[in-house]
Amino acid sequence: MILPPRVTLCEVGLRDGLQNEAVLLSAEQKMELLRLVEDAGFTTIEAGSFVHPKAVPQMAGTDALYTALRPKPGTVYRALAGNLKGVERAAACGCNRIKLNVSASRGHNLANLNRLPMESIAGFGDCVRFAKEAEIEVSGSISCPFGSPWDPEIPLADVRGLVEAYLALEITEISLSDAAGLANPRQVYELCRLLGREYPRVTWWLHFHNTRGMGLANVLAGLEAGVTRFDASFAGVGGCPFIPGAVGNIATEDTVYMLREMGVETGIDLDKCFNVSRRAEELIGHKGTSCLTALIK
Ligand code: ZN
Repeated sequence: MILPPRVTLCEVGLRDGLQNEAVLLSAEQKMELLRLVEDAGFTTIEAGSFVHPKAVPQMAGTDALYTALRPKPGTVYRALAGNLKGVERAAACGCNRIKLNVSASRGHNLANLNRLPMESIAGFGDCVRFAKEAEIEVSGSISCPFGSPWDPEIPLADVRGLVEAYLALEITEISLSDAAGLANPRQVYELCRLLGREYPRVTWWLHFHNTRGMGLANVLAGLEAGVTRFDASFAGVGGCPFIPGAVGNIATEDTVYMLREMGVETGIDLDKCFNVSRRAEELIGHKGTSCLTALIK
C-alpha cells in the first residue's frame, strides 16, 4: 500500500461539529475548546461560520470568537462565509481565511441555501473581490459531489463545472464535502484520481461524515488517490442541519489513531485530542460517536 508520509488534518468541530448541537456554547467556551485544539497540535482550524444567525444560531458568536482570538503564528483559522455579508463580517473581526460553499446537488443547495448551485457561484465574484481587497484568502468547498438524499447521482459534468467556476475566480484550494455521508471508498478513489489528474493546480481537501460507517474507509481511499488534507471533528460531533438524519464528521481521534498506526504523520498529539473531545462532550451534554473516546472511558 502506497501512502503519503504526512497529511494535514483540519479540526472542524468548532464549526461543523457545534452547528448541529442543541446547546449554544458561549464565545468563552468555544475559545476554551479552540485552545485545546491548538494544544493538540492543529495548525489548520475551522473556527466558525459567517452565515445568517437565524439559519445557524450556533455560529452567531463567530465574530466574537475571532475578535478575541490571539492567533498562533503559522496556524490557519478558517471560517465558512455564506455570502458577501459573511465576508464583510469576516473582515470586520480579523478573520483572514474564508471558505465558500456550494453544493453539487441542486436539491441540497436549494434546501441549504435556497438557490441553485450556479446562483450561488454567481454571487462568489463579489465575495472574492471584497476578500482580495481585505487581504482575506479564499478557498472553496463543493458539498455532496458523491450524492445527496435529493440527488443520489451527481453528474460528473456538474462537479467539473463547480471546480472550473472556482478556478475562474482563482480559487485553487477546494474541498470535496460528503455532507450526506453517502460516499463509498471506490467512488472517492475514482473521483479524486480523476479530478486530481484533470486539475493539477488544485489543492484538494476531503470532508467525510460517518453517516453510514464509511468515513475512515473513505479517508483511506482518498489517501490512496493522493489526497493529503482531511477534515475531522472532535468526538465525531456534528452533522448538516439541512440534511435529515445526517450524523457527525469522522472523529478526529479515530482518524489520528488510524493514520498514526499506519505510519502516516499528522503532527497531532492523540492524547491531547482526548482532552478536546472530553471537554466538548461535557459542554454539549452528551457523548460523541468516536470509537476511541468510548473505549478509553
Ligand atoms: Zn460537514
